[in-house]
Amino acid sequence: MKGILIFFAFFVAGHCRQTFIGDQVLRVTVENEEQLSILASLEEDELLQLDFWLHPVSSDLPVDIRVPFASLQTVKVFLESNDVPYSVMIKDVQDLLDEEEAEMEEDRVRTRGFNFGAYHTLDTIYQWMNTLVADHPSLVTKVQIGSSYENRPMYVLKFSTGGDNRPAIWIDSGIHSREWVSQATGVWTANKIATDYGQDASLTALLNKMDVFLLIVTNPDGYVYTHTRNRMWRKTRSRISGTSCIGVDPNRNWDAGFGGPGASQNPCSDSYHGPSAHSEVEVQNVVNFVKGHGNVKSFISIHAYSQLLMYPYGYSCNDVPDASELESVSKSAVKALSSLYGTRYKVGSICKIIYQASGGSIDWSYNLGIKYSFAFELRDTGRYGFVLPANQIIPTASETWLALKYIMEYVRDNP
Ligand SMILES: [Zn+2]
Repeated sequence: MKGILIFFAFFVAGHCRQTFIGDQVLRVTVENEEQLSILASLEEDELLQLDFWLHPVSSDLPVDIRVPFASLQTVKVFLESNDVPYSVMIKDVQDLLDEEEAEMEEDRVRTRGFNFGAYHTLDTIYQWMNTLVADHPSLVTKVQIGSSYENRPMYVLKFSTGGDNRPAIWIDSGIHSREWVSQATGVWTANKIATDYGQDASLTALLNKMDVFLLIVTNPDGYVYTHTRNRMWRKTRSRISGTSCIGVDPNRNWDAGFGGPGASQNPCSDSYHGPSAHSEVEVQNVVNFVKGHGNVKSFISIHAYSQLLMYPYGYSCNDVPDASELESVSKSAVKALSSLYGTRYKVGSICKIIYQASGGSIDWSYNLGIKYSFAFELRDTGRYGFVLPANQIIPTASETWLALKYIMEYVRDNP
């Protein structure tokens, strides 16, 4: 009997897609330090299996927690008995995921070509890249910068009108696999650059002077896993010796304050920094490419969610030497973004605007000498969190483009 149970548990854990039936996302609007420490104690409790979408870090930022159905009563009673007010942001996570899946299925059976307003699998995105290259052969090429832990190719789209190692802009999306609007924005952006070249005078001038490199799926193994097994997966899929827990937070793995505050040493944590800096091959591939290129002027990483535009540092709250310039570029970029639909963004250094977080990509790029290093947190502010409905992809990408374009033009004009 026990053998059968173990087999069954293995079967469920190893071969089926994880469901989130009855899971809720609770939002706590933290009012004071005491509530903050109560929430921090909740985060320590591994038995509850809580998934912090936004961590308790400061008494003026909200905390979003996905609470598994089995822990819901315990957590609600705990919060109420400690006088910590909360609201239910998502009533049933699985309901949202079912809608998301149904929309993807609907899109798959339609045969009207690639839909930029839908979420896609890795295979579909990779096939679409080939189409983009075929349609714009004199502008776009596909460069493989290496392979992932599970041996999937990592493709960078290179937008170039010629020249030898021109100054370049690096953009990556999807380093955290569950932040699906990030990869979808990467796809839309690639298409926008390809179709606007020769049409938009400013972008054309930019591409006649600079190259753009766009890595749409920075964490391919994680991305596949979000489609096949667990929609809430954030990390890589590497195996770490000495633990049965899998994966590393690839945005705590860079050689910039590595292992410092704001990253976990626990391999089972979603913010585990990994056994050593650049232990993750996906990170190492980007490091090798950017260092090997040697002429990257701007490094931009796209995440979700929270609606923020941030600059270094994350690992320290000390101002970087270029803080005032980066602050003013960020403010203007966000002003351009907001001009489309009025979406509100906050700007600031990672450490000051969200929390101290070590081992992040843009701290690494900044310390490498790439002054214009930025990170976006796209829509929304928590209504849907990581499960942003597909009908918001194109609006999100369109407004983000205005900020990206502002930054790229600034970099072009201030080499
Ligand atoms: Zn992220």
